[in-house]
Amino acid sequence: MKLLDKAVSIKNHEITASDNLENFYNKIKRRNPDINAFLEIKIEEARLVADKIDQRIKSGEEVGKLAGLVIGIKSNINVEDFKITAASKTLENYFGSYDATVIERIKKEDGIIIGMTNMDEFAAGSSTETSYFGYTDNPAAPGRIPGGSSGGSAAAIAAGLCDLSLGSDTGGSIRNPASHCGVMAFKPTYGVVSRQGLLDLAMSFDQIGPFAQDTGGIAMMLDVITGYDPKECTTIDWNVPAFTKITDLEDEKAQDALKGMKLGVVEQFLEVSDDKIVNIIEDTVQEMGELGVELVELSFDYIELCLPTYYLINYVEFFSATRKYDGRKYGYKIEDVCGEEVLRRIHIGSYISQKEYSGKYYNKALQARSLIRKEINKLLRDVDAIVGPTVPKLPHKLGTSLEPMEMYAYDVLTVIANLAGIPAASIKAGEVNSIPVGLQIQAKPLDDAKILQIMAGFHQTL
Ligand code: GLN
Repeated sequence: MKLLDKAVSIKNHEITASDNLENFYNKIKRRNPDINAFLEIKIEEARLVADKIDQRIKSGEEVGKLAGLVIGIKSNINVEDFKITAASKTLENYFGSYDATVIERIKKEDGIIIGMTNMDEFAAGSSTETSYFGYTDNPAAPGRIPGGSSGGSAAAIAAGLCDLSLGSDTGGSIRNPASHCGVMAFKPTYGVVSRQGLLDLAMSFDQIGPFAQDTGGIAMMLDVITGYDPKECTTIDWNVPAFTKITDLEDEKAQDALKGMKLGVVEQFLEVSDDKIVNIIEDTVQEMGELGVELVELSFDYIELCLPTYYLINYVEFFSATRKYDGRKYGYKIEDVCGEEVLRRIHIGSYISQKEYSGKYYNKALQARSLIRKEINKLLRDVDAIVGPTVPKLPHKLGTSLEPMEMYAYDVLTVIANLAGIPAASIKAGEVNSIPVGLQIQAKPLDDAKILQIMAGFHQTL
């Protein structure tokens, strides 16, 4: 059942919010011990919320856009009274004392928050293996990583443990696990969703975004969480489109959603990807061509600059963000208890933040970032969107030991959107030996709606 239809059925009292919740809770009890998508569940509180929604619906009261839908939240987004650990021992005993702006909005629209999802420690990773609370398994490809860092949020959707979930994306952490788990996910334009209440990884890249099984779900969540926030200075004051309307297409109209679109394919994005992934993406793109899409070949000369630029800036901003975890106000001193990858970033970040080195590293990275942003925007000028693989490699088997550079290599195609601040999404394109492969769609700043339109057209014609 499509999520938009489910939302309507709940409002019409054909399905109750309470039944929806209990169904998910039963599945969570059964499957979460193996998958470890959720780190914390609060069922009693969720039951009270569901019950109240049902009563209001019964008495004919108007309810919110997300009424009765069950939602999981990544453990780095503040939700009052839940454990906001960022999957680190550092914050093992930290409870959210307020709601992030996105959470306030979800609650106002009667979404039911059931629990907090697993992730890489402080969102610094691409596999969800660095969580202090253990790895998450990939429900779509058991025994393999679910991707990361929002692996729990992606796995929760893939295993059918909730209707919707939120993740955060600094260099791919929403799109990468969506690709590996075979679900949909969306990283909005930088500034379209408030980051207030999100624990920073690298603040000039971080964006919150949704995961869902279908485009209607993504659209519903975007309708709720996007828009200007007076409490957060990086949000953009703009006319937010009606995302749900864009995706709610009759089947005949779905094909038209793609007709006349100009989509770019970047040669270098395919060159860096595994052959089996390239085959699937090429088939998908060809199918789109048959649906009336005009395909344009593009070339991007700076692919090799992307990872070094991203990681340098990430280290510097992360180092600065972690200075508040000195053990006085929040939990433990981070350096005393954190994992290897977080410590690596703190050490390198501290080193390159020193004044005498800033010209050598950080300033150069900022220059490279402007160049990448300019070039990508230039390519986007002539097309509606760029399509290609989300991740260049298939997810490895859990427990495989990888060098840092091998882990970073997963991110080469996703960091570009964060460096440029543009919107980007991932949608399942196919499978290699039953392992999902995602198609990434990237567009101009504030063209978030266009990506959704492409996803809707593509998904309904599959
Ligand atoms: N894997 C990337 C990193 O480790 C991206 C993480 C993210 O988007 N949060 O920085």
